[in-house]
Amino acid sequence: YTTLFRSVREEMNRANAMEVLMPAVQPAELWQETGRWETFGGQLLTMRDSNDRDYCFGPTHEEVITDLIRNELQSYKQLPVNLYQIQTKFRDEIRPRFGVMRAREFIMKDSYSFHLSQESLQQTYDDMYQAYCRIFDRLGLHYRAVEADTGAIGGSASHEFQVLADSGEDLIFYSDGSDYAANVEQATSLLPQKASTLPKEAMALIDTPNQKTIAEVAEFLQIDSQQIVKTLIVEGEEHPLVALVICGNDELNEIKASKHPLVKSPLCFADEKTILQTLKAPLGSIGPVGLTIPVIADHHALAMSSFICGANQVDKHYQHVAWERDANYQDAYDLREVKEGDSSPDGKGQLKSCRGIEVGHVFQLGDKYAKAMNAAVINEHGQLQTMIMGCYGLGITRVVAAAIEQHHDERGIIWPQNIAPFHLVIIPINGQRSTIVKDCAENLYQQLKAQGYEVLLDDRNERAGVLFADSDLIGIPHRLVIGERNLEQSLIEYKARSSQEIIHIPLAELSHFINEQIPL
Ligand code: ATP
Ligand code: MG
Repeated sequence: YTTLFRSVREEMNRANAMEVLMPAVQPAELWQETGRWETFGGQLLTMRDSNDRDYCFGPTHEEVITDLIRNELQSYKQLPVNLYQIQTKFRDEIRPRFGVMRAREFIMKDSYSFHLSQESLQQTYDDMYQAYCRIFDRLGLHYRAVEADTGAIGGSASHEFQVLADSGEDLIFYSDGSDYAANVEQATSLLPQKASTLPKEAMALIDTPNQKTIAEVAEFLQIDSQQIVKTLIVEGEEHPLVALVICGNDELNEIKASKHPLVKSPLCFADEKTILQTLKAPLGSIGPVGLTIPVIADHHALAMSSFICGANQVDKHYQHVAWERDANYQDAYDLREVKEGDSSPDGKGQLKSCRGIEVGHVFQLGDKYAKAMNAAVINEHGQLQTMIMGCYGLGITRVVAAAIEQHHDERGIIWPQNIAPFHLVIIPINGQRSTIVKDCAENLYQQLKAQGYEVLLDDRNERAGVLFADSDLIGIPHRLVIGERNLEQSLIEYKARSSQEIIHIPLAELSHFINEQIPL
């Protein structure tokens, strides 16, 4: 995989990042400074040395790099810096799967940048974003950079690079009319207009005996579930309980909801007993009319000019409810999971979905680590100032797995050229018996290697069919077959793994032909 590593290194260097190699085994003290010794959880593989000191095998390197930087840098004049390494990480993943796709031990390229201003961080972030695009372009992967959830930090300060493949773990929404793309946790759609007209009918109480779920109520009333609103009760940040209201045919996006200041993060649904005690009505009969706890309504629910909802009484619902007339809400918020066909938030095109494999992640960390670890330099005014950071991860081994998921057929792998373990394979037919075949194969092998190609000479004593099937299976992009009959006419047989066509190349033109097929 020389070319894979080279592609990554060249593009990182071109973007002014500097390569370092940090320790793989890290002292617990650094992780205690940021609190992550406790909070990182079970994925942290810990160990103790002969002096009874605690260590971990690094799952990531924010602590180590911040320690290095705080010790080495003193002045704003030394900023910005961007350091990267390519190294083995260990994470005790709960569900390791698909080999190197999600392994406990894997290779990552990780980089970390340090700045004093948001402007400078943004500049390096943009440079890294572009470098990642160039890397994945060079690797021949079909990918999309998608907006990702940034947890507490907010803004569009995080992008994931997703290789598009049906087997991918992540769900992505993208616009068919613009560049907009986001993972499902983050995706939003164009907000609808708030309803402007009131329903003619007055709000009315109706009987809904034993009808609890949206589906049951819709079935019972013979209406569409999109005429109902769903009221979900979650634990609050300032108040014990908070109500979230979304359309009956929408799903709550827990990540988005947990970003509302009144909602406890991570999101936690209230238990039935607390709901009954506080709201005096059971789960399944709750609605926003006359509710005594804060109500946060999704924009789409607010756009309904009239709706049906639980009446906060057993076996009753209200119909013809209008927000402004009959119900109260504290705040309008984006709470719902987007769907295919929603309008893109930029107003251009509609959302479509696909699956992806996250191969890279760029993230603006702000001062999270630098603050916890007191990483500061003297600024222009002679004062100590905490630095801010960006971090940029790229899963080297996962790229290999993702490339296979995206490029294969029923016979095996079809490696993109810059990820392939070999550029080409030479297969001598009956090489064991025919000296001219054997010599030609050997000569070609030496000659192509001297030109800088990575070549596999498959001189095993196997039938041609076995050799062909194996070279297809392991996906080497170019294949040269040397057979006695062709050689008598000074011809070599060439086939690309991605094509069915067999081409006969005169031996004298072979070198030129290969140079054209495989630019180094
Ligand atoms: P995931 O959500 O897939 O677990 P992550 O958010 O934990 O990924 P980061 O900490 O951002 O990943 O790591 C940077 C990159 O390292 C990821 O984009 C991914 O390509 C790769 N990576 C992370 N965990 C693994 C793993 N267990 N095996 C292989 N590659 C991984
Ligand atoms: Mg992970």
